[in-house]
Amino acid sequence: MPQAQPPWPARDKLRVTAVRAIVTAPEGAPLVVVRVDTSDPGLYGLGCATFTQRYAAVAAAVDEHVGPLVVGRHPADIEDITRLIHYSSYWRNGPVLNNALSGVDQALWDIAGKRAGMPVYELLGGRSRSAVEVYSHASGATPAEALDRAEALIAEGYRHVRIQLGGPGLGTYGAPGTRGGYPRSPFPDGWDVNQYLADAPKLFEAARERLGAKISLMHDVHSRLTPKQAIVLARSLEPYRLSFLEDVIAPEHYHRLPEVREASPVPIAVGEQIGSVTDAARLVHEGGVDLLRLHTSSIGGLTPTRKLVALAELLGVRTAFHSPGDISPVGVAANLAVDVSTPAFGYQESHTYNEATHEVFPGTPVVRDGYLTPSPEPGFGVDLDEKAADRFPPTKFLHERWAANVRRPDGGLEAP
Ligand code: MG
Repeated sequence: MPQAQPPWPARDKLRVTAVRAIVTAPEGAPLVVVRVDTSDPGLYGLGCATFTQRYAAVAAAVDEHVGPLVVGRHPADIEDITRLIHYSSYWRNGPVLNNALSGVDQALWDIAGKRAGMPVYELLGGRSRSAVEVYSHASGATPAEALDRAEALIAEGYRHVRIQLGGPGLGTYGAPGTRGGYPRSPFPDGWDVNQYLADAPKLFEAARERLGAKISLMHDVHSRLTPKQAIVLARSLEPYRLSFLEDVIAPEHYHRLPEVREASPVPIAVGEQIGSVTDAARLVHEGGVDLLRLHTSSIGGLTPTRKLVALAELLGVRTAFHSPGDISPVGVAANLAVDVSTPAFGYQESHTYNEATHEVFPGTPVVRDGYLTPSPEPGFGVDLDEKAADRFPPTKFLHERWAANVRRPDGGLEAP
């Protein structure tokens, strides 16, 4: 591809020589990482481009469309390169193209840190805290099981725990249900909203009784309520002082979030399903969220994230970035660079990766005593062993197989 150079001279002869996507699934969920090589042997960057449900589309976007725009450019021009990628598709990016963009963007930040001999958080203004408070997930088929898990996490040092309870049929998101929960219905393994609204406050009443007043508790609705149901749930949970209630309504209805938040005594955390910087900014400045939960690769990487976080800081909104198993350790390190440097930081979701992931990604951040600490190494401090990555090829349709059976007892599809 004939590479148009910007109308300013490069400071030196360093250039991007290759851009490619690498897909690996050491824990089952397909992870996508972009590697950007340069003309300086040994100087390369890695960026997270993980959209696990559409990983092949992201890899094709990187290899066929986005990468060729970057080869030949000086890796320092991050703002110009990412803007060119964004503008050159004419139609503004959705999550597939944003993840491809994020892979390149984060890799360029990784290179910038390595060139400077500084961790990326120093390029973002430096630390504003020692370490990052994280939360983990406690889930169970019964309240006792979920709270056993919560106690185990607290014993490991976690001070923030997201609790999910199963229940009849499919069960709540993130917790195992009981098969055949609705035997007289067309779909006995369904999920019932009234059962859920009745069970959730009982779960948190039991949680406060057993875990005490000091533990910070969260809960994820996973987009399954209407705005009015969300308000009913939030009010029923008021006595249990949750740190936040997550994804209370579906992304199609985010224009109703300000009214939900206005009526909710519990802080509202939303954002992991957003694939547009404009939509994320609107949530912040129109009063839709107390905590912005970005999946940072889905809105285009570190460059747009740092702008949204600055907006959040100015408007009194805090962060609680998405980070379960379907984000690569490179993406975790990118989150940490923002978390540790912004005064808007609230909480960080965390995931404990398996041994295989640590082998594929040397430098994968590890939670200690409920905190994540960013690497002091230049760049993000996370590497990728491609030989190890090759041993874990992705499996297609993992998420789709699950989503196809997320239904109500009457058989109608529900938000997965
Ligand atoms: Mg969630």
